Amino acid sequence: MNAPAKAFDDFFSDIQSALGADAVNRSDETILRYGENTMPGGDRPPAGVVYPGSTADVQAIVRAANTHRVPLYPISTGNNIGLGSRSASSAGQVVIDLGRRMNRILEVDERMGFAVVEPGVSYQAMYDELVRRGDKWMLDVTSGPPQGGMLGNALDKGAGYTPYFDHFGFSCGMEVVLGSGEVLRTGDGSLDRDTLVNWHTSKYSFGPILDGLFTQSNYGIVTRMGVWLLPRPPVVQSFHFAFPDDGDLEEIVELCRPLKLSNFVPTLFRVANDLYLSGSEGESPDYRVSRGKRSLPDDARRALREKVGVGAWNVSGAFYGPSAAAVEPMIQRVRDHFGKSGKARYISHDEAKAIPPLQVSINAFSGIPSLGELGLLKWRPGGGNIWFTPGTPMDGRLANEFQTIGRSIHAEFGMDYMVMNVCGPRFARGLHVMTFNREDKDECARADACYRKLSESFASRGVFVGRAPLDYHAMHMGQTMESFRAACSGIKRALDPNGVIAPGRYGIA
Ligand SMILES: Cc1cc2nc3c(=O)[nH]c(=O)nc-3n(C[C@H](O)[C@H](O)[C@H](O)COP(=O)(O)OP(=O)(O)OC[C@H]3O[C@@H](n4cnc5c(N)ncnc54)[C@H](O)[C@@H]3O)c2cc1C
Repeated sequence: MNAPAKAFDDFFSDIQSALGADAVNRSDETILRYGENTMPGGDRPPAGVVYPGSTADVQAIVRAANTHRVPLYPISTGNNIGLGSRSASSAGQVVIDLGRRMNRILEVDERMGFAVVEPGVSYQAMYDELVRRGDKWMLDVTSGPPQGGMLGNALDKGAGYTPYFDHFGFSCGMEVVLGSGEVLRTGDGSLDRDTLVNWHTSKYSFGPILDGLFTQSNYGIVTRMGVWLLPRPPVVQSFHFAFPDDGDLEEIVELCRPLKLSNFVPTLFRVANDLYLSGSEGESPDYRVSRGKRSLPDDARRALREKVGVGAWNVSGAFYGPSAAAVEPMIQRVRDHFGKSGKARYISHDEAKAIPPLQVSINAFSGIPSLGELGLLKWRPGGGNIWFTPGTPMDGRLANEFQTIGRSIHAEFGMDYMVMNVCGPRFARGLHVMTFNREDKDECARADACYRKLSESFASRGVFVGRAPLDYHAMHMGQTMESFRAACSGIKRALDPNGVIAPGRYGIA
């Protein structure tokens, strides 16, 4: 969509008249700030930013965009670091910053255990509110930015680590402004009545489940969402095992699977390699020596493990219970289970508290937002960061094969192999964090080439990504089957006939 400059002027002028002068910002500084991101492809300055204060405002913005054929890009809190930050799918779109003014916690139901939030409610704000109310309820958080928000994260299929890890799965009931400007309520909310009793408690109501359409897409702008909460357990007791060798991943996956299939361990397992954990503790010791041209050599990797107190692979999980004594037998059972390997070094909850990257896991299992993992962004200087997110079945041999492929591609491009496999019963998402010097052209190009080769190689083995940086949305959409692409475009035409919402996002034009 290439709207002429006059169309933008008319659009912004309409918004100012309808919503007030404060609802629009086109200053150079704002445009610069909203275009910034951490990806290799460069910044994407928008045409301007608009700040709605209500669902009606969002409708007015979408209608004006239709009138003037101006592309919009919604963000909630805009902390999608490594995946696009707050920048739009292409430069020149108008960012709708929903979070600035629509940031209210609309409801907390402490009997049914849910909250209803506007787009701008951050993990930190929700956590603070639950603490203020007596800390009886726990929210599943990410280990990313505490200022990230529940709504935007769920729509991007983000996840955490407690039993409520699946943020879209544990959302219930949305209010959405479609591309036409109409408002749609999903689930039980679709009932055409003013009083709604089960909107945020019943996920599967009459008719098709439309909520999923608004994840990783560009079909609508979500203005309200229900989020389920977990009763806060009196005690969260974590356990950790460090393994000495890269190849131990095979055995680890085999050990984790039965504990998740039976749901004996209630949290997901965080199975992180040495560099994923050590990477948040300071800059790569090799960076200034090799000028970022090679992966950290094995001897330096071993030295770093010792310094930080972690292994080549590290398993973390947690139990919940009424007291430390009550969970102790469960910890013992897990110790016996991992002890069978003869290689696992047990790290207790108390010992882990003194190892900062393991404290990040404890926070994640406890529903406490924390900043620790953001240290990964400083592993190499220059502010570059992207995430490659393939997965593996919980099959040790396959997981190890994927490790071999991933390691060699990272080495080929002089990148560091930094991975956390987040393990459920049948599947693990492999979070590969790539930190690179965005100010160094060569390194930036290598990071880009590395991502593309990883995507191609994993796809050729039948593995797709779970989420992707904006730079690669079109490429990944190109990896899908034709009928999938046709269905995505057909839905786009039906819900957003003029294509005003985030054209190109997730490769949907
Ligand atoms: C070190 C580190 C660790 C991380 N750990 C995790 C982790 O554990 N789990 C995880 O999930 N992520 C993680 N992330 C990734 C990311 O930072 C978080 O997912 C973050 O919460 C996403 O940003 P946000 O919540 O501000 O969403 P936003 O940036 O507001 O939204 C994300 C995208 O969703 C779309 N969107 C947002 N709001 C709307 C709306 N109202 N209507 C329609 N579309 C909308 C937009 O296209 C937007 O770009 C991590 C990042 C880093 C750097």
